[in-house]
Amino acid sequence: MSDDIDDLLRDIAALCVGDGSYFEHMDICTSGWIICSNDGMQWIKGGGYIPCLENDLNSYREHLNCIVDEYAKEIATHFFTSPPPTDFSREVGISTIKIDAFNITSNLTPAITSVLDKRTVCDYWSEITGVSSALLQQDIGSTSIRRARKERSFKQNRFITKLMANDLPTGKNLVQRQHSNTSLCPCCKMAKESIVHLLSCPATNCFRETLLTELDTFIASLETEPQLRNFLVTGIRSWMDNPDRGIIPVNLSKDFLPIASNQNNIGWYSTISGFIHKDIIRSQHTYYNQLHSRRTGTAWAKHVITKLWNMTYQMWAERNRLLHNTSTIDEFKGLESLELSIKIELSRGLRSLPRSIYSHHFRLDPDTIQDLSTETKKEWLLLIRSAREAHMDAPVDEFSHNDILREWIGLDPIKRT
Ligand SMILES: [Zn+2]
Repeated sequence: MSDDIDDLLRDIAALCVGDGSYFEHMDICTSGWIICSNDGMQWIKGGGYIPCLENDLNSYREHLNCIVDEYAKEIATHFFTSPPPTDFSREVGISTIKIDAFNITSNLTPAITSVLDKRTVCDYWSEITGVSSALLQQDIGSTSIRRARKERSFKQNRFITKLMANDLPTGKNLVQRQHSNTSLCPCCKMAKESIVHLLSCPATNCFRETLLTELDTFIASLETEPQLRNFLVTGIRSWMDNPDRGIIPVNLSKDFLPIASNQNNIGWYSTISGFIHKDIIRSQHTYYNQLHSRRTGTAWAKHVITKLWNMTYQMWAERNRLLHNTSTIDEFKGLESLELSIKIELSRGLRSLPRSIYSHHFRLDPDTIQDLSTETKKEWLLLIRSAREAHMDAPVDEFSHNDILREWIGLDPIKRT
């Protein structure tokens, strides 16, 4: 790594430095990024951690990943809340760090690449929605998006970044990351949970309707042109009711129809995510002028985008409430498998386990297991299964091969050679 960061930064906005070498005598890992932001330079390091167990490369890598992720989140938030530098390189902060021939990558890589500048956001969004990237780049009110980001808390912005990068822990993502055995939606327990499903799940219809009514009231309070207000709320509602086949039952005037078509071409999923067509913003601006109002179309769009993001955030919060404040989380984690395995162990009896220690655990009545709390069930199986495994006498069941279930009750992962 160069000693003179200023020299390196003279001509470029950002660069990745270091090759990930770990210098034991200096306690430093030479990998990281240098970012030149609008308000000055920032040195963001990706290493420097001293592992407690120097041989334990796994925990070292894990720790380094966490550090890199935290910085990555800061970078993402920073660059979505201020105008992006014009010559900003896509490579910033997303390079792979190598330590002893192991690659260190950040989970947030896709999130970062898609928030760095308008083009990457649009390219990325185009991939998700199929809407042309060129159209998005030209026609989206990106100033309003940026202002909306700027006025939000770090927590809310992190949510939006994750939402747009499809990085939220939805059922589908959790299964893909091998953190869950089910991809089902915790609200309806019928469909696989994706972000589109989150926004359109039939089980949360009533909650959504309340939010839509609030949205309508809010849009009215901004002195939105009545036809535009009706079009937006009806369009969003029809998409949420059926993402495959939204129909907008609004009689639009001849003047407004092309403007409405433009927004419709961007798509309602994009609209909910904060992509508002410039023609919509212009038309609202003209309306304000007619009212002799000092309000602007750009500010109007900023408020609408903020409200839409809040709406999605509330739906995510409601989904989390349904998952965690009910028995659903136990059900999803594997309550059924747990009860089955307890029954299997009870029917096998003590076998090689020492009677003096374990016999009272086997006085459990198999028919009343369901009355016990989930915690008690987990503790019971953890105790018995650990002992069985120590005696090399574990039965073959879900807990003998599924690490997600094992972690849930506190068993170590299966050792694979
Ligand atoms: Zn659902």
